[in-house]
Amino acid sequence: MKKIEKTRRQKQTGDASEQQMHKIRHSLSHLLAMAVLEKYPKTKLAIGPVIENGFYYDFDLPAPLSDKDLPALEKRMKDLIKKRISFKKTTITPPQARNLFPISNIYKHELVEELIREKKSLSTYTSGSFEDLCSGPHVANTKEINPDAFKLTHLAGAYWRGSEKNKMLTRVYGVAFETKQELETYLKNQEEAAKRDHRKLGQELDLFHLDEKVGLGLPLWHPKGALLWRIIEDFWYKKHLEGGYDLVRTPHIGSRALWETSGHWNFYSNSMYPPLEAGQTLEEQKHKERVKESELYLLKPMNCPLHIQVYKNRPRSYRELPFRWAECGTVYRFEKKGELSGLTRVRGFTQDDAHIICAKDRVEEELKRVIDFILFIYRSFGFNTKDVAVYLSLRDPKDKEKYAGNDAGWKFTQDILRKVAKDKKLSFKEEVGEAAFYGPKLDFKIKDALGREWQCSTLQFDFNLPERFDMNFVNAQGKQERAYMLHRALFGSYERFIGLLIEHYAGAFPLWLAPVQTIIIPVSQKQEGYANKLQKTLTTYGIRSQLSSDSQTLGKRIREAQLQKIPYILVVGDKEKKAKSVSVRSYKKGDMGTMEVAAFIKKIAQEIEKKK
Ligand code: ZN
Repeated sequence: MKKIEKTRRQKQTGDASEQQMHKIRHSLSHLLAMAVLEKYPKTKLAIGPVIENGFYYDFDLPAPLSDKDLPALEKRMKDLIKKRISFKKTTITPPQARNLFPISNIYKHELVEELIREKKSLSTYTSGSFEDLCSGPHVANTKEINPDAFKLTHLAGAYWRGSEKNKMLTRVYGVAFETKQELETYLKNQEEAAKRDHRKLGQELDLFHLDEKVGLGLPLWHPKGALLWRIIEDFWYKKHLEGGYDLVRTPHIGSRALWETSGHWNFYSNSMYPPLEAGQTLEEQKHKERVKESELYLLKPMNCPLHIQVYKNRPRSYRELPFRWAECGTVYRFEKKGELSGLTRVRGFTQDDAHIICAKDRVEEELKRVIDFILFIYRSFGFNTKDVAVYLSLRDPKDKEKYAGNDAGWKFTQDILRKVAKDKKLSFKEEVGEAAFYGPKLDFKIKDALGREWQCSTLQFDFNLPERFDMNFVNAQGKQERAYMLHRALFGSYERFIGLLIEHYAGAFPLWLAPVQTIIIPVSQKQEGYANKLQKTLTTYGIRSQLSSDSQTLGKRIREAQLQKIPYILVVGDKEKKAKSVSVRSYKKGDMGTMEVAAFIKKIAQEIEKKK
């Protein structure tokens, strides 16, 4: 009981301080507007809302601002804070509002007219000589704002109301916190995040790149990246086979008839390849592509219907269940250009997919197995399972028509997801209305080294596809029974998960994952024979090594290997050649002295074993 009370109180103070931060950030956006108006009195103000970690204000400026102007604006805002300016709210009538924000003040005027049309209440906030159309809330006085805990970060162009048809305004961004310490931590994390950006490291470490000539959102994997993928995939297959899964393998395309049965053709065709062109009818497309309707094929946006066809290949009996069918299946989805981002949002991606098909009495056991598997995978890749945030997505009971399946089915699956989440001691949050139309689900988000959340694993019930494909089995009483179907992915997709790993480790992968585990650097050409033999020996022991044989100086080659974040650098000179040893330099620990080859192999074999 005590414990519960404590959590509640903490939550309350958390909310209170969040509300205060909101007021502080919003008040800073007004101070920013004041500072900009002092510099350019003819500036037209647009909007200045609070955003995550900070605020912005959009300005229509008579002369351009540059990043160089930000420190002076910031300085002026600090001065304003120190003047202990009070914020005062005034409720105004429509005529007063029109008077205060006349047509010459085009942006505010438009907002005023809109608020009047919508019969919303109108108010302003006054701070010093500045009055802004605003519903608040604000701090009572700027003395509540810590002048050392905010910073103006950057400028950007932003269309008024987000529409390209409107004028491009200048947006000034700022961040703000309660303490200077929090600001510094935030800025340091931002700097660190930029260094860890997987798109940047992907290029520097020669892992992958995105190529516009190939197409948007379609990564190309270079040898080291493809090897990293393969290492992860090998581990994935091994653990699935050990965990009682069977593998299936299905094509990249499927007939239109398949996607009609699954419902994708009707509800998802805007995201499928090949797309219908705007205004084009299916008849026109058929004509253009010279295909009969029966021969129209579409790239798969999901693997499920193909796995279902494996199930449907013959009648199934309860004795065969459960099926656990896994496939690393590459799917293609049309994502909007503006939403594409590095490896995290792409148009072609490989899901580490599996479908579990079972009878009702087996559901609980299967769910628990998947949860254990998910947590095992996180631990294996170096994530703290205590940091896993779990979300239980439920149906909105007020909006039942939106969902497939019946009441009894939803009650059973929602209850059992909640039960297993509790039994497995997951700390989870229930989200009503967040379920997919086809069933409830558990989503797992993990935190990376910088504390950022990434959506990874998902575990979902499906009422829709078993219904559409009529997935049955013969039960113990000899009757047809509807099968339960679970979708699950552990990584989500390989692309996204590798992007996460790159950022989590800042490209310095643990030994078992590193595509190049060791690099052998002979001091001069005289040791090349020895270096060659050494590489063969390491390969025999399954250690991935690279030989550095270019003509650069020794120092340069060592530096390059360090930039590539290779876990072990083995330098061999005459002394090492004679003693059959290597001089070892670890990426993490630095110089480790000279070791006999056999001792080195034993050491790293142990390290690889332990990390797995
Ligand atoms: Zn599926």
